[in-house]
Amino acid sequence: MEDCIFCKIIKGEIPSKKVYEDDEILAFHDISPMAPIHVVIIPKKHISSANELTEENASFISHIYVTAAKIAKELGIDESGYRIVNNCGADGGQTVFHIHFHLLGGKKLNTELA
Ligand code: AMP
Ligand code: ZN
Repeated sequence: MEDCIFCKIIKGEIPSKKVYEDDEILAFHDISPMAPIHVVIIPKKHISSANELTEENASFISHIYVTAAKIAKELGIDESGYRIVNNCGADGGQTVFHIHFHLLGGKKLNTELA
C-alpha cells in the first residue's frame, strides 16, 4: 500500500526502533508511547483493520500473540503484566489503517474499557 506508514516502516522507508522481525511480522516501539513499554506489532502483509480478517488471512494473529508474550518477557513485563490491544475503525480509536496490536505495560494500566 503506497501511502501506508506501517508498510513504509516494513520497507525501511520510515525508520523505526525494531524489537522483533521475521518473515511474517514486525514489532517496533511506538513513536508516541502511552505506557513505559509500548510496542506495536504488525503483519507484513497489508490488512487494513480487523474488519478485513478472514479465516484464510488471520493465522498471523496467533503468531503475534505468541511473539508478544516473548517480547513482554524480554522487556521484563511478563511477571508484572501487560495488555494487548487492537483498535478497529474510528470509534475504536484506530488512526493507522494497517492492522496492528499494541503491547502495553510497565505501569498499572487504566482498567476502563470504554
Ligand atoms: P492506533 O491509534 O490504534 O491506530 O495506533 C497507531 C499507533 O501507531 C499510535 O500509537 C501511534 O503513536 C503509532 N505510530 C504512528 N506512526 C508511527 C511511527 N512512525 N513509528 C512508530 N509508531 C507510530
Ligand atoms: Zn500497510
